[in-house]
Amino acid sequence: MAYDDGNIFAKILRGEIPCRKVYEDEHALAFHDINPQAPVHVLVIPKGPYVSMADFTENAPDDLVLGFFRAVGTVARELELVEPGYRILANHGVHSHQEVPHLHIHIFGGKQLGPMLVKDRAKG
Ligand code: 5GP
Repeated sequence: MAYDDGNIFAKILRGEIPCRKVYEDEHALAFHDINPQAPVHVLVIPKGPYVSMADFTENAPDDLVLGFFRAVGTVARELELVEPGYRILANHGVHSHQEVPHLHIHIFGGKQLGPMLVKDRAKG
């Protein structure tokens, strides 16, 4: 899938629409999800035109891949989620219900998060 410059996270990166920022460096931006699914629900996005994890890991330069993943860890530490724990998740494509076509890692925390997938959806 080609990258669509008009997606909502591209607009956030360009400062065209606001976000509740929690972290930023040269490689990544992190902000609160507009529709939180947990007491802490933050999205971390790379500063580059990548649709998904598949696109990013195939096409992004090494320094961006490294910097992005370091930023995810930094955000979780700065939000004091390391203890008692947190969950990261990245949706890719139709089966995963990816809504926004700019790579984003969700960080969930702040409560007991329960099983990884809803059980009655696990069988496919
Ligand atoms: P996906 O399903 O693509 O993995 O998740 C997209 C996420 O982006 C959803 O959790 C949704 O609530 C969030 N989201 C969509 N539009 C906006 C927005 O304009 N601002 C923020 N902060 N989050 C958004």
